[in-house]
Amino acid sequence: MTEATGIVGEFFSLKAETDAELLAMQCGDFYEFFGEDAETVSEELDLKVSQKSSHGSSYPMAGVPLDDLTPYLKALVERGYRVAVADQYETDSGHAREIVRVVTPGTLLETSDADAQYLAAVVDGSSTGSTDAGYGLAFADVTTGRFLVAAAEDADDALTELYRFDPVEILPGPNVRTDDDLLSQVRERSDATLTLHETEAFAPKRADHQVRDQFGTETVERLSVAEPAIAAAGAVLSYVEETGAGVLASMTRIQAHHGDDHVTLDATTQRNLELTETMQGERDGSLFATIDHTETSAGGRLLKEWLQRPRRSLEDLERRQESVAALSSAALARDEIQETLGEAYDLARLASKATHGSADARDLVAVRETLAVLPALAEAIAAKPELAESPLSEIVDRPDREAARDLRETLEDAVADDPPSTVTQGELLQRGYDDDLDEVIERHEAIKEWLDTLADREKRQYGLSHVTVDRNKTDGYYIQVGKSAADGVPDHYEQIKTLKNSKRFTTDELEEKEREILRLEERRGDLEYELFEELRDEVAANAELLQDVGRALATVDALASLATHAAENRWVQPALHRGDRLEIEQGRHPVVEQTTEFVPNDVRLDEDRGFLVVTGPNMSGKSTYMRQVACIVLLAQVGSFVPAKDAEIGLVDGIFTRVGALDELAQGRSTFMVEMSELSNILHTATEESLVILDEVGRGTATYDGISIAWAATEYLHNEVRAKTLFATHYHELTSLAENLPRVANVHVAADERDGDVTFLRTVRDGPTDRSYGIHVADLAGVPDPVVDRSRDVLERLREEKAIEAKGGGSSEPVQAVFDLGSGTMQTSEQGQSQTASTDGGPTEADDAPAVDPETEAVLEDLESIDVNTTPPIELVSKVQELQERLED
Ligand code: ADP
Ligand code: MG
Repeated sequence: MTEATGIVGEFFSLKAETDAELLAMQCGDFYEFFGEDAETVSEELDLKVSQKSSHGSSYPMAGVPLDDLTPYLKALVERGYRVAVADQYETDSGHAREIVRVVTPGTLLETSDADAQYLAAVVDGSSTGSTDAGYGLAFADVTTGRFLVAAAEDADDALTELYRFDPVEILPGPNVRTDDDLLSQVRERSDATLTLHETEAFAPKRADHQVRDQFGTETVERLSVAEPAIAAAGAVLSYVEETGAGVLASMTRIQAHHGDDHVTLDATTQRNLELTETMQGERDGSLFATIDHTETSAGGRLLKEWLQRPRRSLEDLERRQESVAALSSAALARDEIQETLGEAYDLARLASKATHGSADARDLVAVRETLAVLPALAEAIAAKPELAESPLSEIVDRPDREAARDLRETLEDAVADDPPSTVTQGELLQRGYDDDLDEVIERHEAIKEWLDTLADREKRQYGLSHVTVDRNKTDGYYIQVGKSAADGVPDHYEQIKTLKNSKRFTTDELEEKEREILRLEERRGDLEYELFEELRDEVAANAELLQDVGRALATVDALASLATHAAENRWVQPALHRGDRLEIEQGRHPVVEQTTEFVPNDVRLDEDRGFLVVTGPNMSGKSTYMRQVACIVLLAQVGSFVPAKDAEIGLVDGIFTRVGALDELAQGRSTFMVEMSELSNILHTATEESLVILDEVGRGTATYDGISIAWAATEYLHNEVRAKTLFATHYHELTSLAENLPRVANVHVAADERDGDVTFLRTVRDGPTDRSYGIHVADLAGVPDPVVDRSRDVLERLREEKAIEAKGGGSSEPVQAVFDLGSGTMQTSEQGQSQTASTDGGPTEADDAPAVDPETEAVLEDLESIDVNTTPPIELVSKVQELQERLED
């Protein structure tokens, strides 16, 4: 390929300037992609590729019309591309082009998604030559101007904060880039794009300067956050600036996010509890989707944030509760408030658009209408004493109401009621807003009137029939006269065109008026655009006010949503306290109760009873019960009411859940290794004030391994961590822990067995299950009778002797494995050395069974040769898998 020149050459040289993966370059009315970019774009977005020849070579080319770029940009960025946009501008000698923006997931302004869209930076303090140790994080949402910084003690904490905000793009600091461990964890759990922003941007001095520049020295000092957090903030600011999103000005405020104010909720827990999406990745069926009755997207965003970041401050929570209580009892006022909120648009997003300069006149109308919602809300709240006395009054009074009114009045006086979406062709503004404009408009309207009435005047004056006055691109304004009358036109008519049934004429006067109207149209368009820009700048200058008002509306919306859900589902206000007691009377699972005739259940935990071993047959409801407890505690710490008849809830500092790998494996999401590292994380991080939910942990490995791990973890949680814990297990053996560990209690989900059938009662009762119902399930599922009978037989022995013989059959002697509950150890012995079992008299099926084929015998031998004590668990799992596969063959 020869060196490209012309447009294609310009494209490639611009492309070489940017680190973006794709470049969209304006060529007249289109944005074009060339070369490989054209091919990529056409593959991703189904665009047609044509060929552009340039000096003997031919290049693929794909283009989109100027006004259609946004949806394409969005789609490309959502697929993970960084897209540079080059605009064309006029020069003395023609056109030139320049990259004006690089659009990335974290700097996309044109999102249609209501969710927060965080751009994050994470800095390892030890790397920046920083004086403060630990990690620093910054989060910015360019679509709303939200900006937060956070400090984290170590990499794990940093990850927790990252998961909490769920950013779409992450800028790892210099040292973080080489931390493979941290990066791989980020990659595993987050869909965020990792972007390497220039390292200098993270340098403490430069970052500090940038942050002070943006938010003011005083603010930054008042924040008093550690250096790594400032480094992260500086890097985010410089990135936003560099990518050219042009929204720095909408970032009016920097807030410090203190992990300590919030309930720790790691990514696994968020997923297990299906907070914002189900295990299958669906939004429907999540806790958020279930309780979300917000009217506005900002309200929905806030409610989601509340769920993802439950609080720990009793005062804060009680304040939210007060508002929810007031709103839930005042049904009519609540309806009215929600109806009013229905008129509101997303003010924070509109403020960003105004700052960016992309807001049109309709956006300003949206600002105006939304500003009018605030006083209407305040009025509705003031009118109802129980609402007026609640914290709601303060919430709507927090923004500068006067400034909001002034801005609204300015917009009311200025912006037309139903303006067009183009901002360059006039009709954007109200009469009376600007004297110069009024004059232009008046003259413009006068000429329009003159033209509108011209046809009638000509008819009357010259006795003509079939006369119309119109304009088109080629002829300009003209008088059109029907053929029959065309011969009778006066002399000063100048014919410009003959049509089949008519003729077109113009006159000197008409031409004069035409020149004037064109002049006035242009003048009006320019003047209006100028005034509109001033107005838009004024709105942008009020970004902080708009964010405040938006926040107040969103808060009322989120609270009203909680109230609505509480009222419609008979939820109650939980009594919150700082103690250990957790008592839920007739609790329900907030999501499952929506679709099922739910059987309510109690839970009681306190100082003397801090650890519940939950047993019960498969499918009886153990997992649901435990998640229900976790969800209720979480909702309580959002300030919500809870699905129960009555609840007393001691505040927790963290909620940790872990579901055994086996249960998760079904969905291909987890391995035993992950299960164990998460268990390890819980054992390290949970405190006495945490709530820990373990569901079949240990099930992902061989039985004895599993029991041993579950056993030891229970002891550790009970003795050392002392967290409030619910542990569901199908290892019946664990129920005997309650005998030795004082704070451990057994509960079980009851099932009724009659005539060999099992009925699940879904009722949780004190005490252990008396037995495993697994065999009944096997029976119900149609497992052949001999197998079911044999397993009954095996179970019988297990229970009596805590021993099981693995029947080898044929020549090999039975191998016996004994799990000693007293010592918690396992011994494997061969044949007659054991005094237990194996010779319990009477012929067994095995005795009569035909000799085992050689292949099976080989499997058994291999099985025997595995040393469970030295083989790593992960390897055990794969060995067992392999053995099973060989058996199946
Ligand atoms: P387990 O963990 O004991 O195997 P699950 O908690 O997965 O059982 O529950 C099995 C099924 O029973 C689920 O479909 C669940 O919706 C239903 N279920 C559980 N608890 C209840 C309850 N209290 N009331 C009604 N249905 C329930
Ligand atoms: Mg379960």
